[in-house]
Amino acid sequence: MHFTELQRHYELPFFELLKRARAVHEENWPEREVQLCTLLSIKTGGCSEDCGYCAQSSRYSTGLQRESLMAKETVMERARAARDNGSTRFCMGAAWKGVRMGTQKFEQIIDIVRDVSTLGMEVCVTLGELGAEEATALKDAGVTAYNHNIDTSREHYPNIVTTHTYDDRLRTIRHAQEAGMSVCSGGILGLGETIEDRLRMLETLSEFNPPPESVPINSLMPVKGTPMEGNEPVDVLSLVRMIACARIAIPQAKVRLSAGRYSLSKEAQAMCYFAGANSIFYGDKLLTTANPRANEDLALLRELGLSPQRPDREMSPPPANPDRALAPAVERDLVQPLDAEADECEFKPVPA
Ligand code: SF4
Repeated sequence: MHFTELQRHYELPFFELLKRARAVHEENWPEREVQLCTLLSIKTGGCSEDCGYCAQSSRYSTGLQRESLMAKETVMERARAARDNGSTRFCMGAAWKGVRMGTQKFEQIIDIVRDVSTLGMEVCVTLGELGAEEATALKDAGVTAYNHNIDTSREHYPNIVTTHTYDDRLRTIRHAQEAGMSVCSGGILGLGETIEDRLRMLETLSEFNPPPESVPINSLMPVKGTPMEGNEPVDVLSLVRMIACARIAIPQAKVRLSAGRYSLSKEAQAMCYFAGANSIFYGDKLLTTANPRANEDLALLRELGLSPQRPDREMSPPPANPDRALAPAVERDLVQPLDAEADECEFKPVPA
């Protein structure tokens, strides 16, 4: 959806915007279901990247305890618990800049994915930068969705990260699309961006071809020790407007109410569901920040007449529109060699 159209929607009177988003939502998602995703950090902290919002960057003193890659048995234990608790999707985040074929850590990840994918949940991973080969190997091992957020607009991105570029992000997304994985990609509000930046981000996401299967909308949870520790909290009504615009711009994507949900009242969460959110991170901990307890989430869904969505292990990614060029468009020859064993991280699904 073009920026000017997004802007027109964003500037509508609040209830008019909600009414339109609700109509789009009901047309595309009549089941009144919410996807429950459990997110597990399988390798935490020690990241060489400098994302200004992130507790896991080794450049900032946030007090976060660095942890190496979790043993497969522990991951399986957590995955079974997530499944038994009703999770639809199990998302694993590893704090690396990226992964490369032939390295021990990538072999370990493939081994973990193979086993987790036998549990009947959708399997999502976020491992940072991927080449075409790595993307195919992950898909073959059983990954259904790859998370790689674009965070904000192209214009604002260099203000929050300097160690990789917007185009690096887009290239990985394209590799995931081409390997046949669904793409989960969204952003973070509260990074010092303007409303225009937020809408430019949605414009980029809505132009992906094939479209993203899910779009997480995070609100910054400022972390002491990061450059963004003093950022203003995200205004709830602005968050609802962004969810409504995401619903309108990318009607068939699941819109995930992600980081920052912990600080929302029940009423604010209800408004987000009404505006088009139909996916949440579920469980007690979201990477390194607190998340509403699972039983409170289920109680709220019941109160609102919503129910947990069933997992779709066979999930095919959204089809590409054959009348348009594939997007994001990327320049292949710009792929940077990655230090395969560097213990760098790359979580993007939520600001830690
Ligand atoms: S968001 Fe990811 S890449 Fe950026 S510092 Fe955090 S862990 Fe590293």
